[in-house]
Amino acid sequence: ITSHIDESIFGLRIIKAFTGEGFAMNKLKQLDAQYLNNVLSINRRRDLSSPLTEFLGISVVGVLLWYGGNMVINGLMYPQLEPNIEPQYFFAFIGLFYNIIAPAKSFSSAFYRIRQGEGALERITDFLDAPSNIKEIDSPKALPTFNTSIVYDKVKFGYNADMTVIKDFSLEMKKGQTVALVGSSGAGKSTLADLLPRFYDVNSGSIAIDGHNIKDVALQDLRSLMSVVSQEAILFNDTVYNNIVFGREGVTKEDVIRAAKMANAHEYIVNLENGYDTTIGDRGMKLSGGQRQRLTIARAVLADPEILILDEATSALDSESERLVQEALINLMKDRTSLVVAHRLSTIQHADKIVVMDQGLIKEIGTHQELIAQEGIYSKLVKLQSV
Ligand code: ADP
Repeated sequence: ITSHIDESIFGLRIIKAFTGEGFAMNKLKQLDAQYLNNVLSINRRRDLSSPLTEFLGISVVGVLLWYGGNMVINGLMYPQLEPNIEPQYFFAFIGLFYNIIAPAKSFSSAFYRIRQGEGALERITDFLDAPSNIKEIDSPKALPTFNTSIVYDKVKFGYNADMTVIKDFSLEMKKGQTVALVGSSGAGKSTLADLLPRFYDVNSGSIAIDGHNIKDVALQDLRSLMSVVSQEAILFNDTVYNNIVFGREGVTKEDVIRAAKMANAHEYIVNLENGYDTTIGDRGMKLSGGQRQRLTIARAVLADPEILILDEATSALDSESERLVQEALINLMKDRTSLVVAHRLSTIQHADKIVVMDQGLIKEIGTHQELIAQEGIYSKLVKLQSV
């Protein structure tokens, strides 16, 4: 129910635009009814257990009282008749019996609680025991700095066994270079970018930084070397300031402002209601797409990484925002090593290497001029986009 409400609130525009209110409402009603049924059936059983055990307990006590009482009276009136019983023994017996009813009853509620706990435990262990395939080796190497190059060597990768997404990919990126990945959607560009910070591990082949296979390097070190700016600006419901700082320690206000200026964000931030202390709403809802993107760039500038991964960072923007974001990105990429997944080719003309991919394979590789001269896929794409 919570996730449905969450989706509906964030998808409100689409629901309204497609007049899907009835559909969303019906789905909620369905989920509600299901929940009501479950809660009712649980409560019915739980609440039934108490009167039931009480009734059974009292019935047994009643029978005992009647039967035992007869025996006592018989014993008092006709001591010669068998069987009979002395009153004090009978009262002691009834007292003991009555005392046993309460603990016996708590067995039934304990059983109910155990089942409830089992259910909860199952949900939790689903998360705790979820396998993480990305493991550090026992004594990983430290990698405090990045000095020479990143090398993809005959990399093969698939998200599952049936489909290989990256078929055979080899590439060298020297320190300071900008390498752009272009190609049709689904070619595997984002996947290649995700392999570098080890969000996934390669199936075969290797990726090495300064000659160290990234599988042998401490994950913390590896990821500290890089920042990711993706197509979807990931922001949190917090102030602008905190979104830029993002947990980084020892940062001064001047650092944050400098980062925002480099990211072309300072101007619009100071015009917000409370400047850097403005809360930006869930997922940065109160900002425009370009503003959100520039905020994530400011975060990356502040992190000051050696390696930058830009995954279609400008593809969701209009031309004016794109220009501002592009400028910000150029500032960010200066003197850094960048892997850029680009949709708009105008943004990567100055890359040191452009890699054209198709279905997990490299089709062309070179600079903008070289590839235009080749008159292959890239030059066709450029022509298409300039039209
Ligand atoms: P590109 O960035 O070039 O558009 P991607 O790297 O995103 O391409 O995707 C390459 C292929 O991998 C696509 O066929 C896509 O369906 C598949 N894919 C991407 N992400 C996942 C995932 N998390 N699980 C399964 N398949 C995926």
